[in-house]
Amino acid sequence: MNDLTDNPISASVDFERDGVQHGFLKLPYSRDDSAWGAVMIPVTVIKRGAGPTALLTGGNHGDEYEGPVALSKLAQQLSADEVSGRVIVVPFMNTPAFHAGRRTSPIDKGNLNRSFPGKPDGTVTEKIADYFCRTLVPLADIVLDIHSGGRTLDFLPFAACHVLPDKHQQEQCEAAMRAFNAPYSMRMLELDAGAMYDTAAERQGKVFVTTELGGGGSSSARSVAIAERGVRNLLVHAGIVEGDIAWRPTVMLDMPDGDCFLASEHDGLLEMCRDLGEEIRKGEVIARVHDIKRTGAAPVEYRARRGGLLAARHFPGLVQCGDTLAVVAETVG
Ligand SMILES: [Zn+2]
Repeated sequence: MNDLTDNPISASVDFERDGVQHGFLKLPYSRDDSAWGAVMIPVTVIKRGAGPTALLTGGNHGDEYEGPVALSKLAQQLSADEVSGRVIVVPFMNTPAFHAGRRTSPIDKGNLNRSFPGKPDGTVTEKIADYFCRTLVPLADIVLDIHSGGRTLDFLPFAACHVLPDKHQQEQCEAAMRAFNAPYSMRMLELDAGAMYDTAAERQGKVFVTTELGGGGSSSARSVAIAERGVRNLLVHAGIVEGDIAWRPTVMLDMPDGDCFLASEHDGLLEMCRDLGEEIRKGEVIARVHDIKRTGAAPVEYRARRGGLLAARHFPGLVQCGDTLAVVAETVG
């Protein structure tokens, strides 16, 4: 990253002005059908006086919908009178991917959540990452990035934090995750964290919360309600919005090591033998993969490498070698 290079994104909103502003992060994008065109990323800023800043994002992956729905509603409904401090709302973070209904950008195939810290002179996706990393995250005290499983995964609805080298920061992240108060709360293990938004925000010392609220490439009344309630709770927790958190029970989950993940080593037809939220015993069959090229062949059985709750599963009916079939997480306490 070259700090001397300015990011070409310009904001049509003034992050220092009080009131409600709806505008765009304008990213110049020259192409065949628009020589001096731009990718227009919608942004809302709600500010009143001095106080903490929350940066709220959805659509980091373009096929996950709880964040975009909940944050579109928040941007429309939250008034400056309700706020002490500032709320920055970006419901469709990777706007090109979101418009295409895809995880990654159709412009450059960029997976935004594997593109951090980004580059000011890189691809469209890298420019978005760089703008968040060097412009928006530094403005924030607390950062919430709402994910779900997208088209290929389905999750138990959970808010999550990570194990961090700074234990004080980890405690603050855990407190914020609990305040989101999803039905499940996860200490999440990432297999590929280096270039994630999460890591970029955590390295800047921010209180960071992420979620996985469902999946399958859509949202439900229940999963959207969890997102909306979680966002409000988090703003109350941060001291930005007044009110009380009406605490509901949450199941604490942990992913202590890579044995939580079960990956397919075959292509084929997926038979899930257990469903999300069910108690799994170590060694039991969670899924079978059937041959789709012939009949009469025995399916391959996939057994749990640890006990716990089934927290995530492959969503489509067909599976490829290398796909994550299932995640089993340990219940804590
Ligand atoms: Zn995601």
